[in-house]
Amino acid sequence: MLRAAEMQRHEVVVVGAGLAGQRAALAAIEAGRDVAVVSKLHPLRSHSGAAQGGINAALGKEDSVETHIYDTVKGSDYLGDQDAIEFFCREAGPTVVEMEHFGTIFSRAPDGSLARRAFGGAGFPRTIYAADRTGLALLQGIWERLGTEEFTLYEEWELVRLIVSEGRVQGIVALDRKRGSFEEVAAKSVVIATGPFGRVYGRTTNAHSCTGDGVAAAYYAGALLKDMEFVQFHPTALLETGILITEGARGEGGILKNALGERFMSKYAPRVLELASRDVVSRAIVTEVAEGRGFSGPYGGYVHLELMHLGREKIESRLQEIVDYSRIFAGIDPITQPIPVYPAQHYMMGGIGTDLRGATNLPGLFAAGEAACVSIHGANRLGGNSLLETLVFGKQAGIAAAEYAGSAPRPQVGASDLDAVEAPARAWSSRTDGEDPSTLRTELQQTMERYVGIYRNEADLLEGLKRVRAIKARFGRVRVADQSKVFNLNLTDAIEVGHLIELAEVIVLGAYARTESRGAHARTDYPKRDDEAWMRHTMARRTPEGPNLSYTPVTFTRWEPKERVY
Ligand SMILES: Cc1cc2nc3c(=O)[nH]c(=O)nc-3n(C[C@H](O)[C@H](O)[C@H](O)COP(=O)(O)OP(=O)(O)OC[C@H]3O[C@@H](n4cnc5c(N)ncnc54)[C@H](O)[C@@H]3O)c2cc1C
Repeated sequence: MLRAAEMQRHEVVVVGAGLAGQRAALAAIEAGRDVAVVSKLHPLRSHSGAAQGGINAALGKEDSVETHIYDTVKGSDYLGDQDAIEFFCREAGPTVVEMEHFGTIFSRAPDGSLARRAFGGAGFPRTIYAADRTGLALLQGIWERLGTEEFTLYEEWELVRLIVSEGRVQGIVALDRKRGSFEEVAAKSVVIATGPFGRVYGRTTNAHSCTGDGVAAAYYAGALLKDMEFVQFHPTALLETGILITEGARGEGGILKNALGERFMSKYAPRVLELASRDVVSRAIVTEVAEGRGFSGPYGGYVHLELMHLGREKIESRLQEIVDYSRIFAGIDPITQPIPVYPAQHYMMGGIGTDLRGATNLPGLFAAGEAACVSIHGANRLGGNSLLETLVFGKQAGIAAAEYAGSAPRPQVGASDLDAVEAPARAWSSRTDGEDPSTLRTELQQTMERYVGIYRNEADLLEGLKRVRAIKARFGRVRVADQSKVFNLNLTDAIEVGHLIELAEVIVLGAYARTESRGAHARTDYPKRDDEAWMRHTMARRTPEGPNLSYTPVTFTRWEPKERVY
């Protein structure tokens, strides 16, 4: 048992070292706080580094912040909070310029200005990029900047639970994966920046580490999760692996064709074709395949993404990673052959509900990045807006957490907090018989794929809910067979599967309750958007019986809801 004298203490603890976490940490350090960053991965291995296509900012002469705001409001299918979207888009230009000053090397236009590419749902080409590895370029830029500051890094430490006492968050309990021990870190304020939880699904573009631990820990602690039913499927992922083929490929002029050789997007989005919003393109592909106009193969139905007409030079200079991924993971050469693609889970619009400064309903708890829901993406996120979100709201959360820590009392953290995590883990390890965490994970992912996918209906969602709850019950008998201490992946699997199950239950229940179609949430039994009944955010609170749903209004400033057509 850890004694108080050994306990780690900091003013601000940031959990997660992707773009959101690092930007939050930098802001809190600049505000004069003693900051610790806790990360289960090396910071440069964070999923932000996998982002390919780019980051949005209306920097072009013909473009404007107003258009960026409008596109984001429309893209969100009017569920995004307009005050948040306005703030977000105004911060875009300064944020990108700041990243360049931090050392991020962006691709350039021939005149030396920042190069921009077209992205779906955007009125102008406003996606700034570093070839097709923008996330890595940003992550390296901020990591170099953060490296000039003093802070403590707990690397390979995995957040398991938040410590809440007297109604305030006062620290965290984490697993030190290198030693296999659970540790407490006391904090005056905590920022959750643990990123995506796409691993709720099997076919996903998200890294294996994207298990939503921070969102689940916040949910356990009493934080409200917002709009969790809105799950984005990216239209173009490789078949077997779900590896992403960036929207930048269509932005550079790539086209989609079905097995009849038709450029089918002309039926679904006659004006902007392949550059319609992601939900629109994903549904179009699923419909083409379901109606027999797709190709079929050992990994299911698919359509073709053609780049060949762009020519070798453009493909090799702007889409280098896509060339590599296609060759290595699909065995095809996109310079001479079409790429077989089908949608895969890509992004979670929902997350821990926050205000514009990253504050949650729990005093002392802040959140930013994909783990949070401000909400600017509403029912559907536009490509290029998420990297921007991590930086804009990461900074705000860091400032707010630093401010809060300035007046918060010394945190009270006791042995009982540690025991609440250690006791169940001991029980998992002492079982001689029980459920294997990886089997539960596979069954959960298959359930979500089958019953809570791109098209949804009441019967499927009810069946999905029943199955998720059955898996949740089986998790009560989970067994960790591996008794080793050092990097016990069997143990981390059990922790992470527990988190995925909790989050899956919120997604299914929210989707079942929302009897309309909006953005990425497409109900075949309720095909229309219903502003009268559903222009509101879903909020989920954890109870022992499951999620308790309530609803809050959407904030409107200047844009009245219209039908969303592309
Ligand atoms: C393949 C791919 C391509 C994308 N391309 C684009 C794009 O071109 N443009 C765009 O705008 N968006 C893109 N996105 C979305 C965008 O990249 C992400 O939403 C964003 O980078 C998330 O950043 P983050 O800081 O919130 O989380 P991450 O970068 O995922 O960082 C999460 C951090 O939390 C840590 N962590 C997680 N769990 C724990 C735990 N239990 N304890 C301690 N630490 C923990 C991890 O170690 C990591 O450091 C893409 C996403 C994917 C998956």
